Amino acid sequence: MTTMNETNEKELLGMVLRIERSSIYDGEGFRTVVFLKGCPLRCQWCSTPESQSFQIETTAESVYGKQMTVEQVMIEVRKDSAFFFHSGGGMTISGGELLAQPDFSRALLRMSWNECIDTAIETSFFSTWEIVSSILPYVNTAFVDLKIFDDEMHRKYCGGGNKQILENLLRTNEIKKSDSEPPFRLVVRTPIIPGINDRAEELEQIGRFCSELRYLDHVQLLPYHRLGTDTYRKLGRRYAFPDLESPSAERMAECRAYVQKYIPQVT
Ligand code: SF4
Repeated sequence: MTTMNETNEKELLGMVLRIERSSIYDGEGFRTVVFLKGCPLRCQWCSTPESQSFQIETTAESVYGKQMTVEQVMIEVRKDSAFFFHSGGGMTISGGELLAQPDFSRALLRMSWNECIDTAIETSFFSTWEIVSSILPYVNTAFVDLKIFDDEMHRKYCGGGNKQILENLLRTNEIKKSDSEPPFRLVVRTPIIPGINDRAEELEQIGRFCSELRYLDHVQLLPYHRLGTDTYRKLGRRYAFPDLESPSAERMAECRAYVQKYIPQVT
């Protein structure tokens, strides 16, 4: 039986950037990825600048963003149910920042969870624990960015400090899971930005911190890339690092070794 609350939840409106079907990069198996629009941070290397503003943006070539109800998104997600079943996939909510639209995100995750669709989130954790802890009960895998360990540097390069992010990551240790529930996994992601966060000291701090996380599955180091620079141009915005090169495979291996001093599971 559908309750009144569930009926109301289906009609909740959210600001959606786009929905991508059959992604293999954002969780287990085939994923339908729901990109939300709007983010409180401003990482200078952000590869999806069109996801930052909470408003619909129009350029000569594209319109970025549209309002959708929870049910309209779920209709899209359910189209891939057969793929989810056979590949172990499901729905991933990405951003922008889903925690900035908590009611909409929670409703989507809860509905997927109730329909036995695997759920993953890609988030900065830049929010209150009250919001984070209201969302996590409906999440199988949380990919959480920890871009820079030093608070001042995080503020300078990402547009906000990281104290809340670190606190929220640590507080995931408080989550209680019974044996009958699906497991919860945490994946910490760090983009390697040459000259900014690739010093040994910085990465060792990240490794040491992650070794305290009870639900950590692994740490993922992602090489910086310049994807998205064309979108800055379309939006009439300046890109901060037009000449920065991606780190080499050798440099990535060195960075992994810094983190692995404290935690073996680093990819
Ligand atoms: S948190 Fe993600 S979406 Fe937000 S500005 Fe940073 S990279 Fe872009």
